[in-house]
Amino acid sequence: MSRIAYVNGAYQSMADAMVNIEDRGYQFADGVYEGILVYKGALIDLDPHIERLWRSLGELQMAAPMGKGPLGFVIREVVRRNRVQNGFVYLQITRGVAPRDHAFPEFSIPALTITCKRLNSDAIEQRARKGVAASSQPDMRWGRCDVKSISLLPNILAKQAAREVGAFEAILIDDDGLVSEGSSTNIWMVSTSGELITRSTDDNILPGITRASIKTLCAAHQISFTERAFTLEEAMDAREMFLTSSTAGAMPIVTLDGCMVGDGKVGPVSLKMIDIYRKHLDSHVT
Ligand code: PMP
Repeated sequence: MSRIAYVNGAYQSMADAMVNIEDRGYQFADGVYEGILVYKGALIDLDPHIERLWRSLGELQMAAPMGKGPLGFVIREVVRRNRVQNGFVYLQITRGVAPRDHAFPEFSIPALTITCKRLNSDAIEQRARKGVAASSQPDMRWGRCDVKSISLLPNILAKQAAREVGAFEAILIDDDGLVSEGSSTNIWMVSTSGELITRSTDDNILPGITRASIKTLCAAHQISFTERAFTLEEAMDAREMFLTSSTAGAMPIVTLDGCMVGDGKVGPVSLKMIDIYRKHLDSHVT
């Protein structure tokens, strides 16, 4: 069965799914996106993803192509038509088609595309059991990382640099030597004194939906945490580290720049996060 994409009002086979070359997403990366996990047929944290999307659109003065309710319907329909049980929805909205000029066009219709692909959830679980390697890379991004923009070149370059040294994720380090976030994840650490720390979303990072869910779950399980920036040096001394994202869930980091994090094994806090996040996923399944 060929994959089905939603493109500006039509469900099409991937082979036929096309956008106009004067779409501002294609020419300027003038667009925003969301990535949503599908777990056992359920869309995980759909409402927070849609809320974040609306915020991104608002920050860029971009119109929504349809209301939140209809968008939820179309997303579900893309999942259904692709018969995906475990997978990932990618949704992108751009400012639409207009003759190339940097300033906003006087008139354009926002363009919406949605795809859904399968994910190998067993492979993700196996990776989480072993933990992953991370590599620190300079954060070369702009001052509005709270907006989930499709302009991702600095993230791509950082991830590629990490992959070239055999690491799964790049941990971005800002100009003050502080950990921002991962190239496509949020970063958490457990300090030598056992404090669970993650950078605040007031501090130029993407407000991750998984990060927010983990925060809520920590509160529900009486696990205390602090939201503050931490340095690369602190991270190198951490007892444990893990990353969070929609596709990876809570994923332990066991080496950083080739050095072991703690004893180099997946630690108890990370295991607890994997466990409570799994239960959160299961709570979506009817
Ligand atoms: N930070 C960045 C830069 C990201 O691209 C992502 C994933 N889109 C995240 C964090 C994690 O966000 P979420 O938990 O919503 O997937």
